Amino acid sequence: MTFSSLNRPEIIHKLKSKTFDLLIIGGGITGAGIALDVASRGLSVALVEKNDFASGTSSRSTKLIHGGLRYLKQLEFGLVKEVGSERAVVHKLAPHLVIPEKMLLPLVDGKSMSYWLTSIGLKIYDWLAGVKKEDRRIMLSRQQTLRAEPLLNKSGIKGGALYAEYRTDDARLTIEIMKTAVRHGAIAINYVKCIGFEYDTNGLIVGIKACDELTGKEFSIRSKTVINAAGPWVDEVRQMDHSISGKHVQLTKGVHIVVDRKHLPVKQAIYFEVADGRMIFAIPRFNKTYIGTTDTNYSETKDQVYATVDDVDYLLKAVNENFENVNLTQQHVESSWAGLRPLISEEGKTGSALSRKDEIFEWTSGLISIAGGKLTGYRKMAERVVDLVVEKYFNDKELKPCSTEHIPLLGNAFKDYKDVIRYRDELKIRLMPSGLDDWADYLLSNYGSQTEIILQEAQYKHLITTEDLLLAELNFC
Ligand code: FAD
Repeated sequence: MTFSSLNRPEIIHKLKSKTFDLLIIGGGITGAGIALDVASRGLSVALVEKNDFASGTSSRSTKLIHGGLRYLKQLEFGLVKEVGSERAVVHKLAPHLVIPEKMLLPLVDGKSMSYWLTSIGLKIYDWLAGVKKEDRRIMLSRQQTLRAEPLLNKSGIKGGALYAEYRTDDARLTIEIMKTAVRHGAIAINYVKCIGFEYDTNGLIVGIKACDELTGKEFSIRSKTVINAAGPWVDEVRQMDHSISGKHVQLTKGVHIVVDRKHLPVKQAIYFEVADGRMIFAIPRFNKTYIGTTDTNYSETKDQVYATVDDVDYLLKAVNENFENVNLTQQHVESSWAGLRPLISEEGKTGSALSRKDEIFEWTSGLISIAGGKLTGYRKMAERVVDLVVEKYFNDKELKPCSTEHIPLLGNAFKDYKDVIRYRDELKIRLMPSGLDDWADYLLSNYGSQTEIILQEAQYKHLITTEDLLLAELNFC
């Protein structure tokens, strides 16, 4: 088997020799979304990422494409409407990767909102997001709630609700958006860091100084416009341009822990309230359950973010108090991840009280920075910032309007979700003779229809070994 070259020298040569219409700093979901939007409108675009693509917050989320029920409580109707509606769009763009998941919301006496207030709240949530009739919320009695999740601590349960959300793999989603952008002509490179800016005599940005993190070599990339989509590092990049003023990014840390599903065998995703009034998710995936998240102010190093013992204990306590006969200890925790939310600072607010809305900052040098927001809303964030760039700098060009709502991501050769299920069942049957039918869900939810490329690479005919499949997957990646 041969491993095809990623042709890094050729990409770097292109970066050095062209003047781009737009250059993006940051290869998380925000940067990837902007790259696809710009490239598909017909502008030339380059993107630099200092680490692995999606190595920042975009691989450390709760991995939900969700409307954010909690934001309804904070009366953020606009945010709920936008991200709520985007769920169905992102599902349509990658139905194998953004999968419908019913969320159970148990209601507990003395803790949660009243049954009727929740019922009305969820109705508004569905209405704002334009949820289809068959997916709208269902209110449950106490018996129905306990039947839906027998593991719940029975004392105090007064009822519950089931409502529609979607789950995804955040890093994979980012990679597929990036690959789709490259398919539309974007040039994206990782392990290249922006270390400064280049200016014309009027102090306007005409490019960036970049460093190839693999060789240490520095070079310039010329670009007419630059967007800073560096997530938690947005202010660091603004500092390089001396453009920090007014609002800035306030970081909060969110931690998730992973346990074997047999230690927390929840039947479905649950969103439950804990003693301090915060809401926590327990989400089953394959043979694991993950639990999160915390939300604490953070001011330490952004490059190495970890779960502390206190974070882990907080989540364990939350689970043990809410599920019967579950006594998780640190020994049960198989792994954890921690991420930073790049939120926009607001006077007098901290942690969970801060809005998840995105904001755009412009500076006299021409640097445009975008921060805040959600994984779920990446497409609308991109549309907003690219509209701004086009209007301001390229209004003399005849460009296509934003069309990302209609650009399926790579891996989506499916008509709809039913087609995804049909393909999964067929894949199971094809892999069964090799005893690898368990792989069908995994391959499908990561690679979608690109699974066929992997099988071809493994020279699949009738039988296939695990080693061949693994090597083929590695080569494809
Ligand atoms: P990032 O993903 O951090 O990307 C920024 C990138 O810029 C990084 O990869 C970084 O390496 C790069 N970079 C920085 N400086 C430079 C430089 N100088 N040169 C080159 N590259 C640079 N949203 C949802 O919709 N659903 C959820 O379930 C959800 N759960 C969450 C749970 C947690 C715990 C957290 C923290 C967030 C969650 N979010 C969720 C929010 C969502 O994950 C973020 O809004 C989103 O991932 C931010 O993406 P980004 O591209 O802006 O930032």
